[in-house]
Amino acid sequence: MPDVFTKRKRSEVMARIRGRGNKETELAFAAMLRQHSITGWRRHPDMLGRPDFVFRDHRLAIFVDGCFWHCCPRHSKVPTNNREFWQRKLKRNVDRDRLVTKALRAKGWHVLRVWEHDLGRCGQAKCLRRLSRLLQAPR
Ligand SMILES: [Zn+2]
Repeated sequence: MPDVFTKRKRSEVMARIRGRGNKETELAFAAMLRQHSITGWRRHPDMLGRPDFVFRDHRLAIFVDGCFWHCCPRHSKVPTNNREFWQRKLKRNVDRDRLVTKALRAKGWHVLRVWEHDLGRCGQAKCLRRLSRLLQAPR
């Protein structure tokens, strides 16, 4: 089936989805940190890979990844319309995520990737456990 959007229109639509999706997930993560009185973090520092959050003293970079955009193994679903376009695009995201994680680790950073679905009520406990382990790790 042909694409219903022109190329320009499609990137507008996708930019909207991407913006909203990421922002909400990031806000949920920030809310979780505040709720548990976890301090010492910053958002979007100007550094390699532009992590969503960093705990600089702990050299910990956190990425909050949307299930769709970063191809979560549980919820990832390539749209059937324009399948090839999406496969390529999503694969680029996954490849970039991997590269960034690797590059940061090579520079001695801890990297925590949190899925959007981990920020639901039941996922949060697990997410907090991982985070506190990393924050307690020797620096
Ligand atoms: Zn997911």
